[in-house]
Amino acid sequence: MPIISVLKMGNPLLFTKANNVDIIKIKSLKNTISNMLDTMQHFNGVGISAPQIGINQRIIMYGIDNNPRYPNAKPIPLNIIINPVFKVIDDNSILDWEGCLSVPGLRAKIARFQKILCSGFDEHGKSFKKIADNFEARIIQHECDHLDGILFPSRIENFKHFSFESELKNYF
Ligand code: ZN
Repeated sequence: MPIISVLKMGNPLLFTKANNVDIIKIKSLKNTISNMLDTMQHFNGVGISAPQIGINQRIIMYGIDNNPRYPNAKPIPLNIIINPVFKVIDDNSILDWEGCLSVPGLRAKIARFQKILCSGFDEHGKSFKKIADNFEARIIQHECDHLDGILFPSRIENFKHFSFESELKNYF
């Protein structure tokens, strides 16, 4: 299965709003979805969006299973969401560390809503609805940002909380 290299910050595609998927053509996304999955797993991502592998479509996926980049994160089953949107259920904002395969080696504390209701379609074209909180809600909000051309550094409020991964264990 092909591992696609992940686009890195600076590539204009990462700052472009992605297009809605035509759900009637969902079957034609099979390759894209499997490339996203292979690539996410290869680079130990907890989530990935289609624009990160150069596909300008509104598709995200995430899941956690013993991830060395997030060793303390609880397992989350794989979710594939097409045309995802979310509604805020708890607008408490939680500040926590976040990273991104497109911004390798860097982390920042980013504020995200605590609890959301995410909806869209799954990879078979069936409607998808899930309430997510805490880290899962954070991942969904991060991946949905990718679909709008937003990378996490543009959400940093306090640049004292912007760090190389190698320095995190020393100073935070
Ligand atoms: Zn990302």
